[in-house]
Amino acid sequence: MAKDENIVVIGLGRFGGQVADSLLQLGHEVLGVDESEHLVQQWSDKLTHVVQADATDEDALLQIGIKEFSRAVVGIGSDIEASVLTVLTLSELGLREIWAKAVSAKHGRILRSVGAHHVIYPEATMGERVAHLMATRMLDFFELEDGFAIARTRAPHNAAGRTLAELALRTQHGVTVVGIKTSGTDFRFAAPETVVPEHAELVVAGSTELVQRFAATT
Ligand code: ADP
Repeated sequence: MAKDENIVVIGLGRFGGQVADSLLQLGHEVLGVDESEHLVQQWSDKLTHVVQADATDEDALLQIGIKEFSRAVVGIGSDIEASVLTVLTLSELGLREIWAKAVSAKHGRILRSVGAHHVIYPEATMGERVAHLMATRMLDFFELEDGFAIARTRAPHNAAGRTLAELALRTQHGVTVVGIKTSGTDFRFAAPETVVPEHAELVVAGSTELVQRFAATT
């Protein structure tokens, strides 16, 4: 197992387990590591390889062949000490790409300082997303790290039958329409001459603030 497609997932709890499962479905070979015998047994039929080990123990990681991997996901969350020590160990072992789950901003900062390349905040990110969806009636919302967002919204009330050029949403609202959809049809890329149908949904991109403001007006 030396190829980049092979990924080690450490901590097969709810988050790590879902990551492992999705990576498998995407065609990757996954080595699962957890200190829980019960979880290791549970995953043994599904994953390519699963081993029971304490991931904070460098020797244990070396024994399971961690050097063969360049990418790892650390899904340990509730045990912050174990999470930090595992990331530190992986970093010292020279893994090229370490993704780690954090349960708080401080935890995330520590993970970065000990070598995590990507820190994920599953609860915070999902909580924020749900709040956006509820507060602005967006149908979907995705924020990139640098304050840029993409959202699926209902088209403004006055939009039906008019072209995107006429609506001039970029000038009026500062957002760019990327795609357009009505129920039962696929998304189409937006062009200036695209006529907005009745009950259309738009995929819009722009700064988070302007996307939110636009969604609130639809
Ligand atoms: P989730 O909320 O995603 O279920 P948890 O933090 O509760 O996350 O679970 C993390 C998993 O990591 C558990 O299955 C636990 O057994 C495992 N784990 C915790 N510490 C270690 C460790 N030192 N080595 C290997 N696995 C660990």
